[in-house]
Amino acid sequence: MKRSPLQLATERLNAYIEDNAMRQSPTRMMVLERICALPQPFTGKQLEEVCAGEQISRGTVYNVLEVLQNAQIICPIASQPGSGHMQYELVTSIPSRMRYVCEMCGRQVEIRDKVLEKLIKTRYYYNFVPRRLSLLVYGVCKKCRLVK
Ligand SMILES: [Zn+2]
Repeated sequence: MKRSPLQLATERLNAYIEDNAMRQSPTRMMVLERICALPQPFTGKQLEEVCAGEQISRGTVYNVLEVLQNAQIICPIASQPGSGHMQYELVTSIPSRMRYVCEMCGRQVEIRDKVLEKLIKTRYYYNFVPRRLSLLVYGVCKKCRLVK
């Protein structure tokens, strides 16, 4: 049976806590549950908002984000230049991702390309272990091609 992103993330967090001789924290678990319920990717501000009703301080939210990032449960993604908002993504929710992005209307479509995913896994990168793929393919969508 396929495990949910929350189950996978919880397993990874528990292993990280054990490896680093840290204590279990119900707050950390609660923040992780909130993250798994958020649409991915999410901003720190979105996470603050969903944690606001739980008596979790802003500082705690960002501490947990740091722990989850160190445990490789979430990863930061560079957001649009100049927006100033860092985005995060649950690593366990999406193994690999590819998208078409229309340069005219900005529409994005999720695609799978198993051949390319396999090819990347066969590549060697100096001092780097690739784990997943995130690729944007820019072009013009059918709708925008027809409007001329
Ligand atoms: Zn378009």
